[in-house]
Amino acid sequence: MGGPVISTRGLRMRYGRTEVLHGVDLEVHAGEVVALLGPNGAGKTTTIEILEGLQARSAGEVQVLGVDPDKGGDCWRGRLGIVLQNWRDHPRWRVRQLLAHVAEFYPHPRDPDELLAALGLSAQAEQTIERLSGGQRRRLDVALGIVGRPELLFLDEPTAGFDPEARREFHELVERLARVEGMTILLTTHDLAEAERLADRIAVLVDGAVLVFGTHAELTARVRADSQVRWSEQGVTRTAHTPDPSALVWELHQRFGGPVPDLEIRRPSLEESYLGLVTERNAA
Ligand code: ADP
Repeated sequence: MGGPVISTRGLRMRYGRTEVLHGVDLEVHAGEVVALLGPNGAGKTTTIEILEGLQARSAGEVQVLGVDPDKGGDCWRGRLGIVLQNWRDHPRWRVRQLLAHVAEFYPHPRDPDELLAALGLSAQAEQTIERLSGGQRRRLDVALGIVGRPELLFLDEPTAGFDPEARREFHELVERLARVEGMTILLTTHDLAEAERLADRIAVLVDGAVLVFGTHAELTARVRADSQVRWSEQGVTRTAHTPDPSALVWELHQRFGGPVPDLEIRRPSLEESYLGLVTERNAA
């Protein structure tokens, strides 16, 4: 133990003649939540499906929980939780029935009723899957993904199509899994706010290559987007943009001879950093 939970070096993938991953390097450590962020077609799903052992890569080294996914057996698969974009399963199954059925495949499953309660699905336990709302369906997907107590959970665009309420509840659930249970989680999203809220580190994937991989602060630093500083001066709100807000605040502090009135410093959001990165790259 002690090595990375996920490690890829020079990961390449081609479909026919088209190469869609051009040497992806990633490393995810135990207990981390990592978001794979990128525009549509960037290669997020392809990457995650290779890590899950659902697709064979064209080249490169890949280890997931210390095993090459192309060679992973049932024991290895039992340590993973997988939530795909779309499950096509039995619409007539009842919620508890399906969960209990899937639980039987694992040596130490969670109790299906406790899991339903934890996910706010107890009232739906006897409902057929076809009658669930989108948000309830997604929570059931997660229940199916974690019923076997996985060490590593993959979530592919978990909140696509959610309303804001369902999205918030889902985010709280992911935070609980990460913080309380210490689960390692890799999720894909093109929702910047989601990545910012959930992820310890973010890998930005564009056109099949990792453009940058780091914390939110590192992404922000990478584009060196300016921070916004606001304060009041003689009853007027003043605004300045600067790469070094502390220098400006020090200067203002000197000038006012004390606290700066109504001081506010706003660092760029992930959205601004991300757009900065993608635009920078397209302009290169
Ligand atoms: P993302 O998840 O970031 O939207 P994908 O991994 O789904 O990106 O797709 C990356 C690229 O690979 C896209 O250009 C897509 O059209 C292509 N692609 C994905 N799956 C296949 C496939 N089975 N056959 C051919 N091309 C594919």
